[in-house]
Amino acid sequence: MNNKVILISIDGMRPDGLMKCKNPYVDELKKMASYTFDARTVFPSATLPCHMSMFHSVLPERHGTTTNAYTPQVRPISNVKRVIEETNGEYTVIVTADHGGNDRSHGSDMDEDMTIPMIFYDPQFVPGREYIGVSILDIAPTIADIIGVAPAKEWEGKSLISDVEE
Ligand SMILES: [Zn+2]
Repeated sequence: MNNKVILISIDGMRPDGLMKCKNPYVDELKKMASYTFDARTVFPSATLPCHMSMFHSVLPERHGTTTNAYTPQVRPISNVKRVIEETNGEYTVIVTADHGGNDRSHGSDMDEDMTIPMIFYDPQFVPGREYIGVSILDIAPTIADIIGVAPAKEWEGKSLISDVEE
């Protein structure tokens, strides 16, 4: 297992849109990575609360950030394939989203807003393994597991490296 991780969070990336885009690299990733197109983010499905839950592995009621208090800077990653290829297998690459979206908006508890993809690429993640019932809260514990750090006892998520339902 690598002990270096690159986490790519794509703002408002809906899994159904990802599947419909017909980019052949999406199918390639499904074969070479562990993944789900049915993970859940947290409510409210807004950028800042979701990222706080992604990094702190607790629900917004616990981390206390329940609104978008700032506008995040946009630093687009234009080519996930290039990132994966250029890291030369030296990093675990995680691709996910903070939330989905509907009708040019987001923030609700609708499935369109609450469902996100998660893709874990590393030779140690089982290629083609599809996760069921995972959450944005599982990202921080998984990264801690990858880099060999014990999870904080307050964290509500679980590591996806082992002992999860497929
Ligand atoms: Zn966002």
